[in-house]
Amino acid sequence: MSFVVDGNVSLILVSSERFAEHVTPPGHPERPERAEVMDVISARWREGGGEVVAPRAATHEQLARVHDAGYLRLMAETAGHAVSLDADTYTSPESHEIVLLAAGAAVDAVERVMAESSDAALALVRPPGHHAERNRAMGFCLYNNVAIAAAHARTIGAERVAVVDYDVHHGNGTQHIFERDPSVLYISTHQFPYYPGTGAADEVGAGAGAGFTVNVPLEAGATDDDYRVAFEEVVVPILQLFEPEVVLVSAGFDAHERDPLGGMRLTDGAFGAMTSELRAVAAEYCDGRIVLVTEGGYDLPALAASLDAAIQALSSASVEPTWPSSQIASDRGRRGVAAAKQSLKPFWKLQ
Ligand SMILES: [Zn+2]
Repeated sequence: MSFVVDGNVSLILVSSERFAEHVTPPGHPERPERAEVMDVISARWREGGGEVVAPRAATHEQLARVHDAGYLRLMAETAGHAVSLDADTYTSPESHEIVLLAAGAAVDAVERVMAESSDAALALVRPPGHHAERNRAMGFCLYNNVAIAAAHARTIGAERVAVVDYDVHHGNGTQHIFERDPSVLYISTHQFPYYPGTGAADEVGAGAGAGFTVNVPLEAGATDDDYRVAFEEVVVPILQLFEPEVVLVSAGFDAHERDPLGGMRLTDGAFGAMTSELRAVAAEYCDGRIVLVTEGGYDLPALAASLDAAIQALSSASVEPTWPSSQIASDRGRRGVAAAKQSLKPFWKLQ
């Protein structure tokens, strides 16, 4: 597939060939080859007339808005070393530099859409970020890229920031970082029960943030149609009520039917449709400001095809979401959607 950049639509890509330099042990699914997929996509985007910019490293100040000082010290000490941070999260000697670039790419993407130099931005990064907690690395994630981007958006003028996470895994780190903060709405669709174990429908946030954490737990085997229902009945209506000033997306592609880690059955087109739904919300409430930050996605051809679909959704002239029509009927989403609506009843008026 080739990209033809529509002159009326502004989407910018933020990426770097250096993302291949974060090296994981042999056989690890979050492998440097994922960066090569991103490089191919960046090259095609450039060939079609689009712009790809290299990220700057995130600053200590940007990181410190969501991570503890002690954790930042520990991470800085990993520079130059191969370290095991948890059962499946590792550094190689270059990793610290690269994770600063991944977080920096997410920050750059936010700055560009907030400054209105682009409507939409896609940070094509690895490693992913949404499992990283304030004070620890986990689940392949070192710094929480999307959380750092959300905190940055708040700092440069966005009063209300939405983070939508369609990665197959629940973004425990992002949820915990913002669970008491009503200015950052976190919405996740994910396989449940599954790694990392969080993300039940009754986790709705705490204190002033109650209601601003939205979990739609879906059973393994959920299809395009299940996700369509989750988006139409929960994700989109809550975004419309929240009226975000910028929409950030934890864009993980591991709910794809070919993914070796996830147990869902999404086709390429579902990633385009979910992205279109979010772009339509951004068009309606925040002058089109939307930022995608990549998370998981471990089958390389599926990652490439899903990214293509997401980019098409962000760059096509139409913002009308089109869900794949050859849907497999399923009710793997029904219970999760009903449970989410029940838990959110005190906070949001849903149909
Ligand atoms: Zn994932």
